[in-house]
Amino acid sequence: MLKFFEARDSLEARQLIDALSAHRIEATVLGEYLNGGAGELSAINFPWVWLINNDDLAAAQEVLDGFLASRGSLPRAGPWVCAECSAQVDAGFDICWQCGAPRK
Ligand SMILES: [Zn+2]
Repeated sequence: MLKFFEARDSLEARQLIDALSAHRIEATVLGEYLNGGAGELSAINFPWVWLINNDDLAAAQEVLDGFLASRGSLPRAGPWVCAECSAQVDAGFDICWQCGAPRK
């Protein structure tokens, strides 16, 4: 087992696993929480995609590169800091939970 990629959310993790499986690379998700997603816990518990076979790393990296390119030029996801009130906001949200300012 090899820790491979920290996904933004469980949907992205699933999409990556689908992409990997299409290349006959076995992978699984760990670190997912079954609390329904957008709760407070999800901000600190990003799902990790793990490779089952360490030997798949090189091939998996190529799949990941294509996967990231296909989802657009968004920067690598992580919590962002509101420019208005300095609150830390989960990457899954485009509006500050504290003051409602849009992401910049
Ligand atoms: Zn704010």
